[in-house]
Amino acid sequence: MPGKIWFVGAGPGDPDLITVKGRTLIEQAGAILYAGSLVDQAATRYAPAGCEIRDSKDMTLEEMVAWLLDQASRNATVIRLQTGDPGLYGALIEMTRPLTAAGVEWAVVPGVSSAMASMAAAGETLTLPEVTQTVILTRTAGRTPMPEGEDLALLASHHCTLCIYLSITLLHEVQSALRAAGWQEDAPILVVQKASWPGQEKIVRGTLADIKQKCQAEKIGSQAMIVASPTLGAANWESLVRSKLYDPEFTHRFRKATVA
Ligand code: SAH
Repeated sequence: MPGKIWFVGAGPGDPDLITVKGRTLIEQAGAILYAGSLVDQAATRYAPAGCEIRDSKDMTLEEMVAWLLDQASRNATVIRLQTGDPGLYGALIEMTRPLTAAGVEWAVVPGVSSAMASMAAAGETLTLPEVTQTVILTRTAGRTPMPEGEDLALLASHHCTLCIYLSITLLHEVQSALRAAGWQEDAPILVVQKASWPGQEKIVRGTLADIKQKCQAEKIGSQAMIVASPTLGAANWESLVRSKLYDPEFTHRFRKATVA
């Protein structure tokens, strides 16, 4: 019987931000294939002695699949360690289909995505009552085209929180899309590079008008999250609509209102 292949989300960078389940699997792994371009090797530090650890940076999809299948023929637990959550821009299904075809069992362990880590780093919230209750995780078209109906200007017309992956080198296009959707020049924009990476994280706060210059000044050209959201800066607002859940005037399943 071949072993099982686990697609494990390593989290955004800080090796402590892997899930307990992911870490337990790493402790049992016979082989780990990690995405070295984005996952720090520190993420494999819980691997047992003798575990085969390989960086996939220079491998094609076919080579990765062949490596995983070969390792699964000899090991009970084989791990594909991916940045953030494996299901977000992670070529997950391209890898699992040939495993299924080969009759090898696989499963996914989710991870903390960089959008969440970026907002956490900046002490910001993704949603806020009566401001926005919706988050869109998206990207701009690079070499991968955007499907019809997912043009950034169209998505931005919702004026909700937009977490924009893989797009820091196309910041000018992000700016144009937000302008086309009617965002104001003073709308706050957040860029976080290497969110949660110990000692390497950079947080840049700007506006639609100046975020590009600010990122250039900080030399941010890769591994960065762009967040456009009407919630940004709420920690310093004068007034805020309260969450109903904790409102003394609000009764719910677990608590009676204490104020009429
Ligand atoms: N699966 C990953 C995303 C992979 S795509 C996840 O869930 O986070 C790679 C893109 O993710 C980068 O271009 C960048 O936009 C973002 N990214 C990954 N790690 C990051 C980090 N630590 N800080 C900020 N952005 C990050």
